[in-house]
Amino acid sequence: MVDLRLFDTYERKVRLFEPLVPGKVGLYCCGPTVYNFAHIGNLRTYIFEDILLRVLRRNGFEVNFVMNITDVGHLTSDADSGEDKMEVGSKRTGLTAWQIADQYTEAFQADLTALNVNPPDIWCRATDHIKEQIEFIEDLESKGFTYRTSDGIYFNSRKLNNYGYLARLDVNGLKEGARIDTERQFVTDFALWKFSPPDEDRQMEWDSPWGVGFPGWHIECSTMSAKYLGDFFDIHCGGEDHIPIHHTNEIAQTEASRGTRLANFWMHGYFLQLSDAKMSKSTGEFLRLETLTKKGVDPMVYRYFCLGAHYRTQMSFSWQSLEAEETALRRLYQAAFDWGEPGTVIPEFMDRFMNCINDDLNMPRARAVAWDLVKSDADPGDKKATMLAFDEIFGLGIEHWQPEAVQVPDEILQLAEDRETARTEKKWQLADELRDQVLTAGYVIEDTQEGPRVKKA
Ligand code: AMP
Ligand code: ZN
Repeated sequence: MVDLRLFDTYERKVRLFEPLVPGKVGLYCCGPTVYNFAHIGNLRTYIFEDILLRVLRRNGFEVNFVMNITDVGHLTSDADSGEDKMEVGSKRTGLTAWQIADQYTEAFQADLTALNVNPPDIWCRATDHIKEQIEFIEDLESKGFTYRTSDGIYFNSRKLNNYGYLARLDVNGLKEGARIDTERQFVTDFALWKFSPPDEDRQMEWDSPWGVGFPGWHIECSTMSAKYLGDFFDIHCGGEDHIPIHHTNEIAQTEASRGTRLANFWMHGYFLQLSDAKMSKSTGEFLRLETLTKKGVDPMVYRYFCLGAHYRTQMSFSWQSLEAEETALRRLYQAAFDWGEPGTVIPEFMDRFMNCINDDLNMPRARAVAWDLVKSDADPGDKKATMLAFDEIFGLGIEHWQPEAVQVPDEILQLAEDRETARTEKKWQLADELRDQVLTAGYVIEDTQEGPRVKKA
């Protein structure tokens, strides 16, 4: 079998993937900030991570998959100012920040289930790990990487030689132009602990050696990934927006405290762009999975749509392209359904498929192999077995798909019956006429082994 190769943002190249411990993979994916529903852009990233998980498993690795829930500390501005998104959500809805977190965590998990996205082995919430985050910050403090301002404890990014390497940040260039309007000493310094603002009645706050407050956003991921996967593990994922700030700062904290760059591979899913509206959870209206299902679109159609672009390319959403994918997916389902019981996997097709998925998760090409399979004249049972094996990666639920029971009107069924009678009486011309009448009405008669079947044309 061809080796698995994955693009590593840190090295900016596709590298052979070899786990740090043979046979085992530690995988950490940044989870949602649960102050609102996930939009379909967020969900594209989780579908990419699910494909990665499935491909790792297909390669025989035992994966320990951890995902966090950001339920505190993610501020409305990436410059560590503004309000905590959870507290904003609380004001918007009238629920407590804790209720908000529970409600949107559940909604997020339901979206993942609907999309056939596998849950992690471990879910971890930032608010359940305050003690560990404080300990991490204390360690950074003892190593001289922190300083205090009037609003919090900050990480001193200039103390690290290679700060910003992941994003190839031109830190010296920044130094020239940077104007800082807070007490932060440098533009890339970031909050580890924020003090509760005196004029704000915060719901989420804790005692700490530095004063009552709450952790910054980045420290949760350095802390929880280390707790569940160790100081250096295999793969860390997130969306592309995490490269310059969130992941850059996670790496900085872990390098300063533990001396490792946290993960061996850094992988990023590129954005879904909306052509006709802004894709933002923090501004009013946005597209969520429910927006699609309310229009009658099956979540699997969205999953199939996402597989049509490589995870490292941005993708535009439009209703028109979603519709086209819906038609294609329906054809794929129907073809596999019509093949009947599975036979044996066809090795040549399986090899081609493995080449695609092990080539940095090239799902558009893997999809094309599936269509070649549909068109091939191999044994239907073997095609079915092969498609089901593909679907362990696609995750489209091909095995359980059933054609919708179309309500065929009685008069059409009568015409089909009359045609059958005409056939048994060898009245061929009449039989053909009746079949044409059925067709004109928008139905087709299929002759199957179990007798004729009427379907929508
Ligand atoms: P958030 O809930 O904002 O913390 O984001 C959850 C995940 O979705 C993160 O991995 C983000 O990088 C990712 N993400 C945010 N916006 C998009 C988008 N438009 N397309 C794809 N992924 C996104
Ligand atoms: Zn994170």
